[in-house]
Amino acid sequence: MRRVVVVGGSIAAVTAASWLRVRGFDGTITLLSAEKEQPYTRVPLSKTVLSGEATDASTALPPLDDSVVVRLGTRAVSLDTTARRVNVDNGDPVPYDGLVIATGGRARRLSPPGMSGERVLRTLADCVALREDLTRARTVLVVGAGLLGMEIASTCRTLGLEVTVVDREPPLRRVLGPVLAEVVTDAARKHGVSLRTVPGGVRLVGSRTLEGVDADGELLTADVVVSAVGDVPAVDWLTGSGLCLDRGVVTDSRGRVADHIVAAGDAAVVRGSGRRPHWTNAVEQARVAADALLGEDTSGASLPSYFWTNQFGVEVKVAGEPAGLGEPDQAEAAAGSMLLRWSGGAAATVNHTMPVRKLRQLASAP
Ligand SMILES: Cc1cc2nc3c(=O)[nH]c(=O)nc-3n(C[C@H](O)[C@H](O)[C@H](O)COP(=O)(O)OP(=O)(O)OC[C@H]3O[C@@H](n4cnc5c(N)ncnc54)[C@H](O)[C@@H]3O)c2cc1C
Repeated sequence: MRRVVVVGGSIAAVTAASWLRVRGFDGTITLLSAEKEQPYTRVPLSKTVLSGEATDASTALPPLDDSVVVRLGTRAVSLDTTARRVNVDNGDPVPYDGLVIATGGRARRLSPPGMSGERVLRTLADCVALREDLTRARTVLVVGAGLLGMEIASTCRTLGLEVTVVDREPPLRRVLGPVLAEVVTDAARKHGVSLRTVPGGVRLVGSRTLEGVDADGELLTADVVVSAVGDVPAVDWLTGSGLCLDRGVVTDSRGRVADHIVAAGDAAVVRGSGRRPHWTNAVEQARVAADALLGEDTSGASLPSYFWTNQFGVEVKVAGEPAGLGEPDQAEAAAGSMLLRWSGGAAATVNHTMPVRKLRQLASAP
């Protein structure tokens, strides 16, 4: 294998490219990114970059080694697995011996095509546009009370805006489970966020321009409406390639998709364990997938998945997936911090100093 092509321009793609070098791969690596910006991290986009506390430039990921050819503003449009070529929107097909798929996801929108006014937050450009709108706003309506929606709400409160969050379910339940979700929801209420549960879901109202949100017959309006209703895996370019697609590109536990092809990050769905659209997962999957491309199996001793969120003065760290596990079997609270453990394979802390590795070990302990 002499030529590796990595499709994607963020953490999974950059990690895979640099890990191949760490592992001694000395052939050519070409990274194709649809975005024009140098690779950056999305994590602060809903937090300090949205608030203006951190600069746009601070999001840059560490630069790749000069030997990696980075083609910014280059979108993969289709894949020919027989000829082993990636077709792109701005030049000749790019041949590969090994391919890493790391195209992540894009924000899901609720508005029909042609309607303006709905903001989303996935890219740096989304963040800049939303931040600009917020400077002229007094009220904000966030649709979606998951991790991203609640982080946006938190940041908007620090900017002094009046914030309503609406969702068909109580905030954060789907991802944190009832106990942990309530800890954060309580902090949100104390920070003055208005939380609305609309079991029937909401609908954006307007024709060419968004006029408001229909919440079970009541029209909610705000200066800014931002949807945080999940992301869609960016795998449309693989349609017709013959690869298995099922809400992402399907991989085995080592990130393998097909001969000479691996995938990692938010674009990937691991057969049997699903999709985990979080930062640490993107990093770890990218390394395992890069190793698999080189013929090595490093998937063995993995710890439970991990993610974190910061909102309303609460830092939550989660190992494993507590959402379906009900009440924790162990709960310790002291001086504003908390440690929770579920014997089903999860553990979480709130404003706690426990190192992440220890938390993950605790989650997997018998
Ligand atoms: C605002 C925000 C805040 C977050 N905060 C946290 C957090 O606090 N904690 C946490 O654990 N996780 C967080 N996440 C999740 C985390 O950022 C993602 O899991 C991570 O970005 C996934 O990385 P990825 O490289 O797989 O995909 P992405 O980050 O989606 O990157 C995909 C890249 O591929 C490019 N691409 C897409 N299609 C093509 C194509 N056809 N051709 C070429 N390039 C293409 C895209 O332009 C992009 O550069 C957050 C996400 C967002 C959006």
